[in-house]
Amino acid sequence: MDSGLYPDDRSASSAMHRRARRVMPGGNTRTTVFRLPYPIYAHSGLGSRITDLDGVERVDFLNNYTSMIHGHRHPVIMEKVRAALEMGSCFGLPTESEVKLAELICDRVVSCDSIRFTNSGSEAVMMAIKAARAYTGRTKIAKIEGSYHGSYDFAEVSLDSTMSNWGSPSRPESVGYAAGTPSGVLADVVVFPFNDPHNASTILAAHEGELAAVVIDPLPNRAGLIPATAEFIQVIRDYCDRTGTLLVCDEVISFRLGFHGAQSEFNFQADLTTFGKVIGGGFPIGAVGGKQEIMSVFDPSQGRPRVPHGGTFNANPISMTAGLAAMELLTQDAFKDLNQMGSEVRSRIAAILKSSGIGWQVTGLGSLFRFVPHAADLTDYRSTQPFGPTEAYLSSFTAALLNHGVLLDPGGMGCVSTVMSDEDLNKLEQAVSSAIVDAAVGPTDDVS
Ligand code: PMP
Repeated sequence: MDSGLYPDDRSASSAMHRRARRVMPGGNTRTTVFRLPYPIYAHSGLGSRITDLDGVERVDFLNNYTSMIHGHRHPVIMEKVRAALEMGSCFGLPTESEVKLAELICDRVVSCDSIRFTNSGSEAVMMAIKAARAYTGRTKIAKIEGSYHGSYDFAEVSLDSTMSNWGSPSRPESVGYAAGTPSGVLADVVVFPFNDPHNASTILAAHEGELAAVVIDPLPNRAGLIPATAEFIQVIRDYCDRTGTLLVCDEVISFRLGFHGAQSEFNFQADLTTFGKVIGGGFPIGAVGGKQEIMSVFDPSQGRPRVPHGGTFNANPISMTAGLAAMELLTQDAFKDLNQMGSEVRSRIAAILKSSGIGWQVTGLGSLFRFVPHAADLTDYRSTQPFGPTEAYLSSFTAALLNHGVLLDPGGMGCVSTVMSDEDLNKLEQAVSSAIVDAAVGPTDDVS
């Protein structure tokens, strides 16, 4: 075994990455989990811990980007999945397991009385947008600047726009994410700033009658993990009601905020909701749900549906079974404890950041947290983006955390799981203090 320190050319992860480079571009198949000079390869996970190929164990505050709400190999989920595997992993026929998970989600989410499953959150958002187009007969959508909704071209617009191309806050530019994004895609996506009711309503008003959907996430991770204000949500809900536009709420991450999901926490109802991550219990999943009348665009029982929706692995019984087991474990009490732990983590981190004097802040809600390397007021994507030296500090900080036994998103986001203990929280606290020193994190310049 090597020193266990990251990076290390002699490590098994480094060797694996060299091997991977021969058969995958950059040795990688998932942009989010790439890290220079090489990503650490997981060997196994158990509870709150991940062991890497070199035998180094870390506390997992990344939880596969918030999807592992019960940590790794939860015994209840394992048992149910093993039993399901014994029956066959997927069929060209529906199974009871999808009906059960659909019933649970529709029971919990007031705005959903009908649901369809996909294999990922990206597909769920894509299907929600297609449904909104079919239902309204309009083509354009509007979305929040900097908000991530998966890899559908339209949903990706202005995901990572920068100072050089984002335009004025009163009229943000629609910026393509992947090179080669068709100009027609950009023309069909209207971008508005987060938590800015005035600019949001002016921008949306300029497109009255053209928008099929306004897509929001009330706690957009990439836009800073700041909760949406009630006023912001109300402005959008009113606009949608007035103009016959569908309000799509992306709860792929934020569904983990509470027993009834994010809409209940933020006190509003969407027309369509997208789900993913936690509802799969650690297996690939996504879902789109809403009122019967809107969801009927997918209904094949009267002939060709307005929105055909296939998918070889949609609602496969393994994802459904694991998802149902995970969701049943998420009782009202489980959410209370989980969110309590999340708020404890945020206050411990805030105290460390304050005493270190580096001027960073911690954002988040419920079980989620995010390090934001700025001292100034945080309101939206523009105010929370790391740039220049702060970006480099954040990256060396999260790399240093690895050497103190903690795994976090390289961009600074993390979450707690139901199986974490005080020992895990203490480990995070110590790791954060040490990583600030190791990474020689400088004070923010806060030029924005
Ligand atoms: N929406 C949000 C809010 C997300 O965070 C993500 C994934 N991180 C997606 C959609 C896409 O989900 P998936 O990665 O399962 O395609």
